[in-house]
Amino acid sequence: MHELGTIYYVINTVEKLMEENNLTQVGSITLQVGEVSGIIPEYLEDFWQYARAKTEHFRDTELKIEKLEAVTYCQDCKQTYPTLEYKKICPYCHSDNTFLITGNEYVIKEIEAM
Ligand SMILES: [Zn+2]
Repeated sequence: MHELGTIYYVINTVEKLMEENNLTQVGSITLQVGEVSGIIPEYLEDFWQYARAKTEHFRDTELKIEKLEAVTYCQDCKQTYPTLEYKKICPYCHSDNTFLITGNEYVIKEIEAM
C-alpha cells in the first residue's frame, strides 16, 4: 500500500521536525502529491484518519493535499511539457527521448504550528 507508507513517512518526518523545533501541536500539514506518483489522494485521506488516531500528536491535525504537476523533459529539443497530456512523446518534436522531471514524488510543503 503506497498510501499507507506515505502517511507513515509524513508522521515520522513531522514528528522529527516537531522535536527539533519544540512543537507539541500541529494544526495542519500540507502534502504535495505528484500527478504520476500513483498515490490516490482519497486513500491518503482515509489512511490519515486511521493513522492519526493512533498517534500522540496528530489527533486534531488536518492533512491538506495539493496536486504537484507532472513535467517531462525532451532531450532532443530541450523543452518541457505536461506529462499527463502527452505522456512519453514530446508534443514539439515528437521524440520519445524524454524523461520525467517532476510529478513522481510527494513533498511536505508546509506545517502549520499551533
Ligand atoms: Zn522534443
